[in-house]
Amino acid sequence: MDTLLVSECLDLTARRVALDQRYRDLVGVNQTSTNVFSVFDDDGTFLGVVTDRQATLFPARIFADLIARRPPEPVQGHASAIQLLKRMRKEACEHLPVFDAQGRYIGIVSMASLLAEFVCRSDINRREREALVSQLRTELENRKISANVLESTSDAVLVTDARLRIQYINRAFTAATGYPGADIVGRPAGFLRSGRHGRGFYAEIFATLRDGGRWEGEVWLLRADGSIAPDWVTIKTVHDEHGEVFSFVAMFADIMQRESLRAQYMHLAYYDSLTGLPNRRLFQDRLGHAIERSANKGTEFSLLFLDLNRFKDVNDTLGHSFGDRLLEVVGERFKRLVKEADFVGRIGGDEFTFILHDTADPAQVESIARRIFDELAKPIVLNGTQSYVSASIGVSRFPADGTTAEALIMNADAAMYRAKEDGIGACHFFSRGLHTKVLKRLDISNALHRALEANEFSLAWQPQVSLTTGKVIGAEVLLRWMRDGSVPVSPAEFIPVAEETGVIGAIGDWVLRESCRYVAKLEALAIDPEFRVAVNFSPLQLSWHRQEPVLQTIAQFGVDCRRFKIELTENALFVHEEGLLEFVRELGAAGVGIAIDDFGTGYSNLSSLKHLPVTELKIDRAFIHDMQGSHSDRQIVQAMISMAHMLGLRVVAEGVEYVWQVSVLREFGCEVGQGYLFSRPIDFDALVKLLDAPAVDVQAMLADG
Ligand code: C2E
Ligand code: MG
Ligand code: MG
Repeated sequence: MDTLLVSECLDLTARRVALDQRYRDLVGVNQTSTNVFSVFDDDGTFLGVVTDRQATLFPARIFADLIARRPPEPVQGHASAIQLLKRMRKEACEHLPVFDAQGRYIGIVSMASLLAEFVCRSDINRREREALVSQLRTELENRKISANVLESTSDAVLVTDARLRIQYINRAFTAATGYPGADIVGRPAGFLRSGRHGRGFYAEIFATLRDGGRWEGEVWLLRADGSIAPDWVTIKTVHDEHGEVFSFVAMFADIMQRESLRAQYMHLAYYDSLTGLPNRRLFQDRLGHAIERSANKGTEFSLLFLDLNRFKDVNDTLGHSFGDRLLEVVGERFKRLVKEADFVGRIGGDEFTFILHDTADPAQVESIARRIFDELAKPIVLNGTQSYVSASIGVSRFPADGTTAEALIMNADAAMYRAKEDGIGACHFFSRGLHTKVLKRLDISNALHRALEANEFSLAWQPQVSLTTGKVIGAEVLLRWMRDGSVPVSPAEFIPVAEETGVIGAIGDWVLRESCRYVAKLEALAIDPEFRVAVNFSPLQLSWHRQEPVLQTIAQFGVDCRRFKIELTENALFVHEEGLLEFVRELGAAGVGIAIDDFGTGYSNLSSLKHLPVTELKIDRAFIHDMQGSHSDRQIVQAMISMAHMLGLRVVAEGVEYVWQVSVLREFGCEVGQGYLFSRPIDFDALVKLLDAPAVDVQAMLADG
């Protein structure tokens, strides 16, 4: 068994899809058993793997959006299958792409396909059974079934005629399934169907039988006691002397001997190896049952999605084995809650689900959520140190928030994301508003993909004015999107979606190139050497700019990189995204200005900025606006400005709309203002005109105001 290679265990249900295809269009309402897709671009290059979990959550998204940001380490076809199975169990991953020695994509291997191959190979007496089948065939051709041969085998055997009417079953079949021969011989075999396989499944079996005369695989059958269980079945077609189908012979691998193997298989297939909790497959099964049960009884139930907060950080900083042990502890604690919750499962890395039956009253759900948070709040002692974990919970309810598994999952997930926004340890119930929000985001995400090609983006420029001289000393580049050429969409709305789906890389690159193109024009006009252009930069563009360095792009356009300022929000700098600090340092060293955007809205403090090559601080417009409210709000702005000065930073006030603000800001020593008072964002030609015009007379403005 050790010599079994990965390339022999490929998951044949995996489908190849193009990056712009949608799950919804492919699969439709009648889901097939497919649960993994390999995504290829137009040139046939393999891009990544998408599982049906991601896809069913967001059926309207194209596959390119669904590819996991961090692709798993691929495997080589000649690797050992048993080693890979161990790795997959350890990493709790279910699907991996397989490549050959030349790095070419061969296919997908999945936990299920590995297991199926192992189970299949471990079938005892395979050759014996083959011999039996051919013997059987001869006998059947002689139109007589030898009861002797069949009764003496411990393999269960079922024979049907060409129209699938049961002709014969042996004793082993009765022992395994509970059906006595007298009850079922003569009946159409269809009643054995478990309901687990779609129509396509059986059609495929018969297509294979027609082509090759033989089919082998796992089939779930309905037992006499109403339970269902998987069997490894070999089916052969027997033809009569004219070549017409005479009968089908199905042989079930020795069920008694495989019992323990199956128990292990079932456990692997339905339970998570790390925590011992039910896994995603069992969860989906139970969710289906819960829906059926509640629909029949007219009751309500709740689905809870729980996601540990910042678990990725735990893994990254303390190591995966620490993360695993932490999950084990959390799993143990959740098991204790099983009495309150009717189902607790782990469906992914740090994601857990709870199903609570008969919870018509949201207060019941809240009290269980509180119990969950209480369990998590206890310190976890590992390696002698205490750690804490927190989580966010999203809730969707049947039938109010959805009547299908897909809708309930999607809505609980949306509520969970909302809970994350609410901060540590929040539980959020799904609401219609959230639904609309999710749909809106999906819609934006789809349209964004076309926007670049369709040339729907443009740049607006908002002047930055010196509060002492009144001169326009710079401009911020602001992205504008005319959806379908006519509907303006605010960047505050689409930038977060672009970040979430990864399109921000391509969009940010376009903004940078377009800015460079215009800066080249400005340089040709011999404008003031001090004039600088500020470009907003999302930290999520970083991975893109590793391949396409910013400085290189600027150099391509032959412009001076000191003309540029990069605006980053303070949170971007403090989440310590890998490589971000080096990136900022490299730009700073080359003379690119670094501005902290929307300062005051994030979590950082001014003194932590001193380690970074920051040159400018932009005070968020909310603070400028609030200055009129109270004395203390003014003091906050004053404190920000004086601390920035102590660190040698220039201060830009955002959202300046009134003359009195200019007067206060000048008094506090703020150097630059940006806002509607001076100018709204304008197009490039208007900016050039403005640069030609005389400076704003700040003194006169103050006197008038
Ligand atoms: P931001 O970088 O803080 O940009 C300033 C925003 O404030 C702009 O909104 C601007 O139109 C608005 N604004 C300026 N003066 C005033 C004022 O006096 N009063 C009021 N009420 N608003 C004023 P906009 O253009 O809607 O952009 C929103 C945000 O979208 C930007 O905030 C920035 O974070 C993001 N964004 C815009 N363009 C880009 C881009 O090219 N790349 C990235 N990554 N983000 C961008
Ligand atoms: Mg900005
Ligand atoms: Mg800002």
